[in-house]
Amino acid sequence: MGKVWFVGAGPGDPELITVKGQRLLREAGAILYAGSLVSEACTLWASEGCEIADSKGMTLEDITSWLIEQAAKHDTVIRLQTGDPGLYGALIEMLQPLDAAGIESEVVAGVSSAFASMAAASESLTLPEVTQTVIFTRVEGRTPMPEGESLRELAQHKTTICMFLSITLLNKVREELLAAGWHDDDKILVVQKASWPGEQKIVRGTIANIREKCRAEKIAAQAMIVVSPTLGARDWQELKKSKLYDASFTHRFRKAGKND
Ligand code: SAH
Repeated sequence: MGKVWFVGAGPGDPELITVKGQRLLREAGAILYAGSLVSEACTLWASEGCEIADSKGMTLEDITSWLIEQAAKHDTVIRLQTGDPGLYGALIEMLQPLDAAGIESEVVAGVSSAFASMAAASESLTLPEVTQTVIFTRVEGRTPMPEGESLRELAQHKTTICMFLSITLLNKVREELLAAGWHDDDKILVVQKASWPGEQKIVRGTIANIREKCRAEKIAAQAMIVVSPTLGARDWQELKKSKLYDASFTHRFRKAGKND
């Protein structure tokens, strides 16, 4: 029996897959990719003769039986997932049937679209003395949120919040943020198809107008929403510098001056 690898394909740009992921794609005898988001990376790096399938129309059961069947034929089988496999990727649901079938598996981390979205906008997820915390979440839609994790509750911390799977719920996003103490003129960022060559869209707005702006740009899917007190910091005059590069700060690779 072969081994099944759950590989993070990254956010869309084929160059944003890891070196390890790319090597595994070259070695793979079969690849099952998750819809349109990762097809290109697949065809670029897969070897000739590799069996490639799209899981778009498949149920979870179809997916796991496909992987199990392929593992009987090939040493290396890949389930290629968008971004990082551990974020909204149904990873555990797929691992369990493989475990039950006695098939070896391993997960390879990927660049999440949350990182690619902030990179696309040249924004920082954290800033000294502004926020040192990032929340990855989604707004409640068909999937219910566990207790204590509503956006209204999470947003009270005033940290950076990256919202997946929520672009059609911008009304609700606004409602919840306002209830948590954010303001209509606070900055918000939407990035669609972050890192996709030629297709990425960056929309900056306020909590009040982002929905209209996204509608005007026809953004209704494949988009990340970010609210953060760090947004726009590139234009700030006053910035608390990171201690990491501060001359008076000793760390593992550099000793501070004697008088510090
Ligand atoms: N595991 C993925 C997330 C899968 S859930 C990751 O780590 O990125 C799918 C959601 O991810 C989408 O609804 C959207 O919110 C976000 N997403 C995926 N790719 C994206 C991209 N290239 N740009 C912006 N958002 C993206």
